[in-house]
Parts: sequence; C-alpha cells; structure tokens
Amino acid sequence: MSAIRDADTKPELAVRRSLHAMGFRFRLHCKKLLGTPDIVLPRYKVVIFVNGCFWHKHDCEVFRLPATRTDWWNRKLTANRLRDEAVQDKLRESGWRVMVIWECGLKGRNRILSEERNSFISRWVREAGSSYVEIPAPMNLLRNKS
Ligand SMILES: [Zn+2]
Repeated sequence: MSAIRDADTKPELAVRRSLHAMGFRFRLHCKKLLGTPDIVLPRYKVVIFVNGCFWHKHDCEVFRLPATRTDWWNRKLTANRLRDEAVQDKLRESGWRVMVIWECGLKGRNRILSEERNSFISRWVREAGSSYVEIPAPMNLLRNKS
C-alpha cells in the first residue's frame, strides 16, 4: 500500500455510498490485486480507483505543481502517474475493466452531478463496454467535442 493512496478519503466514501445505493456489492482496498484498487466489483470484473488530482497528476484545472522544489515534485508526481498507468494496463491485460474517478469530478466547480455520475457508472459497469473509462472524461475528449 503506497502512501499516495489515502484510504477512506471523503471522495471515496461518496462513491461507495452511491454504489451501495444502486445495489452494487463491492470489496474495498483489495490488496490481492495490483495497485490495491479502492473499490472492486468482482461480479462485473470491475475495479475503481478514486484518485486525488494532485497526487495522481491529473490533467485538469485543479492540478498545480508546487511553486517550491518544482522539479522534484514534477518528477515525483509524473512517476506516480506513470505507475498508475502501468498498473491499470496490467489489470486490463488480466481481464479487469478499470474506472478512474477523479476528485475534481466529485467536488469543486467542475464536479459532475451525482445523478448524472451514477447513471453513467451504473451503465458502464452493467453493460460491460470499454475496458477503461475516466470521470470526468479526459480534457482532450471534451475539447474535441466542442
Ligand atoms: Zn482533476
């Protein structure tokens, strides 16, 4: 378990409450799986990571490199990000579908309303579509749409 993942953070609790209310059954912080996913839905072969935008270097408005020791932070956070991606690729190779829910999709001015978020999550989990999805959708996809 790495120090960058803060177990039982508030954003994660919000996601767990929503999943529970939608009738999903899940396990938490499954150490048997690579990357210790925050939430695991074994029945659907789905893992969910609830990621803080800073520690996981999200490409979003919330993320800012610290003004001091900037190079050091940049190396550290980039390494976190690359490790996340490697873990997610390996999980997908073993047949897991991966959802990343970013903190900025749960709170702050770019948050996605819970009804909209829940219906998206529910559909994606149940319909077994793509093997990787992010909430909110990556910025480049949003840009392409407009
Ligand atoms: Zn973000």
